This record gives sequence, structure tokens and C-alpha cells, in this order.
Amino acid sequence: MEELVFPAGDEPDYIPISMLNELEYCERCFWLYYVLGAEEVNAPLLEGRLLHRRANTPGVERDGDTLIHRRVYVWSDRLRVSGFADFVEERAGELVPVEFKHGRMGRWLNDHIQVCAQAMCLEERTGEKVDYGQIFYWGSRRRETVKITDELRAKTEAAIRRAFEILASGEIPQPLKRRAKCRDCSLEGICMPREVLRLLEMDEGSG
Ligand code: SF4
Repeated sequence: MEELVFPAGDEPDYIPISMLNELEYCERCFWLYYVLGAEEVNAPLLEGRLLHRRANTPGVERDGDTLIHRRVYVWSDRLRVSGFADFVEERAGELVPVEFKHGRMGRWLNDHIQVCAQAMCLEERTGEKVDYGQIFYWGSRRRETVKITDELRAKTEAAIRRAFEILASGEIPQPLKRRAKCRDCSLEGICMPREVLRLLEMDEGSG
């Protein structure tokens, strides 16, 4: 029996924006990180943390015409999310959230959802529209631009709704059946997707 940390009706008021990234990647991952506080510190994770140190230090600096705010706290009362943007850049009156990732751009939308949530929080806080954000991938040394489209906004809001639904259910989501994501997941040793799926199959078979 899995531990219930958020019984139905006892969900948090706000969900950390970074956890939307986990949720979009894998709902079970979201639960393991957020509800159970699971963590497997491996070499890539440690490297990411070390590279992230600068982004974790609050401050402001100027680079030419761009004013760079580091580690900016943002939140949305409408969406019920809060968290930190690694950087918010002010360029010609525009605000641009910039997220720092240590790897390369993946095939999934999880990083985009995180930046979009930051953008929507910034909009709510400032009243200014945010048209795009950026993700700097250390692995490729590239900045990817993320347009904050209506479609991405809708996906982000759906992810937030899903996060609250999962917490309200009080049940850990099942492992993914398509295991492409599991190969890159640092929680695989804790999650044990193959073993858990096998046990679930055996349980169904005996019922
Ligand atoms: S190992 Fe797979 S199923 Fe388990 S948390 Fe990671 S991605 Fe999700």
C-alpha cells in the first residue's frame, strides 16, 4: 500500500511551478518528487545543481540593453502555482522568463510548460503580456525560444488542473507503459516501473 500524503480535500493551495515540469514528463514522477520527496542524486543531477548555482543566487545585472533579474519569485493566485524563474530579462520594455537546464532539449513539452507557467505568473503580477520565454540548454549551449501561444497556455492550465486532480485522488499514478521516458528518469531505481507493472498485471490476473 502506497503512503497517502495528501488525502482528498487536503491539497496544497499552490503547486510549485517546477513540479509541473515533472508532471508533464510523468505523473508518477510528479508524485514521487512532490508527495514522497523521493530523490536519487546521480551524476547528471549533481552536475545540473552545480551549474545552476548562479541562477540560484538572487540579484540584478545589466548586459548591454538587457536588465537581468536572477531567481525571481513568481506566482499566480488564479492558477494556484508559485515558484522561481531562474532569470527574468527586461529587453526594450519586454519581460522574458529564462529557464536554465543542464541537458539538451528533449522531445517532450515539460520544459515549455514550466516556462509558460512562469510567463503567465509574470503577466498576472505585472499586467504586461509575455509573448515568449527562453530555455538555455547547457548541454547544447543553445537558447530555445518558447512562444507563449494560446495552445501552450491551455496545455499548461490543463497540467495544473491535472496536478490538483492527482493530489485530490490521494493515489500514486501507475508507471508509464511506454518506457522511453523511464530510461532518462533519475527515479527509475525508486519507481521500479517494470516490477510494479508486473505486480499490477498479476493482481488483475488473479482478480
Ligand atoms: S521510471 Fe518511468 S514511470 Fe517511473 S517515474 Fe520515471 S518516467 Fe515515470
